[in-house]
Amino acid sequence: MPSSAREHPRRRVSPAWHTLAHGAVVERLASHSTRGLSGEEALARLVDHGRNVLETQRGRHWSVMLASQLTDFMILVLLGAAVVAGIVGALEDSIAIIVIVLLNAAIGFVQELRAERAMAALRRMAAHTARVVRDGQTLVVPAADLVPGDIVLLEAGDVVPADLRLIETARLQAQEAALTGESVPVEKGNAALAERDAPLGDRAGMAYKGTLITHGRGRGVVVATGTRTELGHIASLLSADEGRTPLQRRLAHFGRRLALAVLGVCVILFVVGWLRGEPPLTMFLTAVSLAVAAIPEALPAVVTISLALGAARMVRQNALMRRLPAVETLGSVTYICTDKTGTLTENRMRVESWYAAREARAAAPEDFGAGWRELALAMALCNDARFDQDGVPIGDPTETALLSALPRDAIRNWHRRYPRIGELPFDAGRARMTTLHEDRERGCVLVLCKGAPESLLPLCRAELTPEGEVAIDSAVDAQVERLATSGERVLAFAFKELSAAPSEPEINAVERDLVFTGLVGLLDPPRDAVTAAVSACRAAGITPVMITGDHAATARAIALKIGIARADDELLQGRELAAMPAERLVNEVERVRVYARTTPEQKIRIVDALQSAGELVAMTGDGVNDAPALKRADIGVAMGKIGTEVAREAADLVLLDDNFATIVAAVREGRRIYDNIRKFVRFVMGGNSGEIWTLFLAPFLGLPIPLLPIHILWVNLVTDGLPGLALAVEPAERHIMDRPPRAPNESIFARGLWQHIVWVGLLIGGVSIFTQAWAIRSGIEHWQSMVFTVLTLAQMAQVLAVRSERESVFSLGLTSNWPLLLAVLSTFGLQLAVVYSPWLQPIFKTEALTLRELGFCVAVASVVFFAVEGEKLMARRGWLYRHE
Ligand code: ADP
Ligand code: MG
Repeated sequence: MPSSAREHPRRRVSPAWHTLAHGAVVERLASHSTRGLSGEEALARLVDHGRNVLETQRGRHWSVMLASQLTDFMILVLLGAAVVAGIVGALEDSIAIIVIVLLNAAIGFVQELRAERAMAALRRMAAHTARVVRDGQTLVVPAADLVPGDIVLLEAGDVVPADLRLIETARLQAQEAALTGESVPVEKGNAALAERDAPLGDRAGMAYKGTLITHGRGRGVVVATGTRTELGHIASLLSADEGRTPLQRRLAHFGRRLALAVLGVCVILFVVGWLRGEPPLTMFLTAVSLAVAAIPEALPAVVTISLALGAARMVRQNALMRRLPAVETLGSVTYICTDKTGTLTENRMRVESWYAAREARAAAPEDFGAGWRELALAMALCNDARFDQDGVPIGDPTETALLSALPRDAIRNWHRRYPRIGELPFDAGRARMTTLHEDRERGCVLVLCKGAPESLLPLCRAELTPEGEVAIDSAVDAQVERLATSGERVLAFAFKELSAAPSEPEINAVERDLVFTGLVGLLDPPRDAVTAAVSACRAAGITPVMITGDHAATARAIALKIGIARADDELLQGRELAAMPAERLVNEVERVRVYARTTPEQKIRIVDALQSAGELVAMTGDGVNDAPALKRADIGVAMGKIGTEVAREAADLVLLDDNFATIVAAVREGRRIYDNIRKFVRFVMGGNSGEIWTLFLAPFLGLPIPLLPIHILWVNLVTDGLPGLALAVEPAERHIMDRPPRAPNESIFARGLWQHIVWVGLLIGGVSIFTQAWAIRSGIEHWQSMVFTVLTLAQMAQVLAVRSERESVFSLGLTSNWPLLLAVLSTFGLQLAVVYSPWLQPIFKTEALTLRELGFCVAVASVVFFAVEGEKLMARRGWLYRHE
């Protein structure tokens, strides 16, 4: 009874599942080995057992984020000081300070919440799915929804979604390194084990969450989910911090040193102010406010937010980032190594040419006469594609193309007459597959084989012609060459008959003494956007390279067509690569544009060689065997449609549309995000240093302390808040894909950034102090309101100008970043409100400026704008630091 199994799901000690027969396990879990659970029961168990996820996969709770906003050390000091000041003196002043600090924390919190939401959405999209049998139907559900008792189907390329007791296996192998550290796949079966304490690696009747299916098929019943799985037991040992990005780490490190420097300045400011006779408590508040405003403690958080929101935007262009640090790395990519089939081409194959029985024919055979019949049989039956309910072939595009080329009725008849009794599955390393069929009418066994000609022809002893079996003619090679040179994927077919079915061990030996029956040429047109994307890569200093298992001539034909290779570019064949020592490969690798007839394992060698040559490599892949190369590459790219779970798991980037052009779009987006982070740093640190100089220099020039604590906090709130964040939505720079990739170890302060921070800081400090000195000399009582206004407006002027590193705002157009324009205008409005509103004046200790004074402030502040425009003009002329 389903309900009895749920009575004490948590308290019950789980039995040693591997020692029980699978039938007993299914029974104990109140499930059914072919029908599975009912949908209702699965839902009820989900409520009882919780979702099938590990702790480390959960996001941060909002309360944790809120707390982290408020527990920053300097914020606490400031709040403490404000409370003390409130008790001994002016209560309203303290309340105003506290409100502003809380507002600031609220802005930070909302931003982090948005970023966390975006990350959670990405996590959901990248989440695994599982094939489960419920109510007798096979469904694809999120792996997180699995419950004990669910019947799960496994096949090569899957990541095991929960702990399973296996019910049925067919040559099933799993790689369990995640649990056992052993990277050699182990055979799985469904037998029970006598030994209770058998090590995990020996429990062949079990499949464990997080391990990889490398071969075969299987079916099992879920015995544990989520944190109760074996992976769940060790998950707490795995680091939850799945990586601060290199930039975040460097900024955090830099931030700590900067904080010390700022604190030093604040201490001096405090002492100097005190000596000048200011009240110590006010001076202390001023110094702490400055520290809070000027220490860029939010920088690492801003990096996360920019990366997360950028990644959310990339999904809309079909690029799903699985790891945040990779977004940052994208902008440094110098090589994109890509598969051909499906990535550069549409993967919509069509049979284009036939060659059988020593004659080439363009059209499909109608009568399946001598020789043709054996070819057609192999096309139809040595094939894992199927017809769905609507009669549309589904499966591997190479195989569906073969089915589509034959009459459907004939295929149906053959399926009935020749049921499959054994197989040697397709494997990209072998580049062929073989199936065994019982011939019901003649009582013998038919062996059918298809694969790459180089792989298959050596296994053939003869060729089938209308005159019977004869020795293989050299015309076959010429045909292969001819089809391949026109860009077709060539498959060879062969067969043989056996009098009886071979036993399990003999099956591996059936692939010999075959009779060759013919060739088929398939055409797979290049994708539309690919040619443009390839030239975009070139302009951006990125070298695209094709790596394919296909024939050299086919590969070259396609590479020429889409511009990856020119006629005299080098092509390296898999077997030449295999023979080449690693050091030589490092020397040659940067000249090769096309790799043909490679095995997936060779991708690792290519990545290694490119990395040793100093390149930053993005590498695509879809199969189980591609996973190690994807891990090794700087950016592993998996296919979202045709790829396996294992490849996706290993990847940093998943292409939802499998399209090469999407990688290029992602690189562009990565560059934009990095640029915008730089803009934020440029703006915020330039402004902060302006605030520091203003307060620090004034006393040394014999002027009073220019601003009150509340002014400093206000300036910090309105500048870092909206305008700073609006920089994150700045569109890509015009020539973003015309410049070479950024060096991966380049400092964020490189290319003139720190110089900018220094001089703009001094300039902002300069104009503020100039305003102060001028206003005091002119006998203006409310000089402080003027300095306050200038400091805010100068930063608005700066933010408008730093929207681009090079382009003038006049050529960008003010409206090309609406959010920023609105942020600047509303900040200006808020500043006017603070200065002119009778309700706010007592809180901010401000007085209304005359129109002339306001004009003076605007004019002085806009000096900053024109100065930065001048800097960019000089940069465009090449008078400053070299941009690249
Ligand atoms: P690609 O890099 O073009 O995707 P693969 O590594 O998938 O190439 O395949 C390598 C070779 O194996 C192909 O050129 C083809 O000759 C052969 N091949 C591909 N798919 C199948 C299949 N389903 N059955 C038999 N042979 C195949
Ligand atoms: Mg392929």
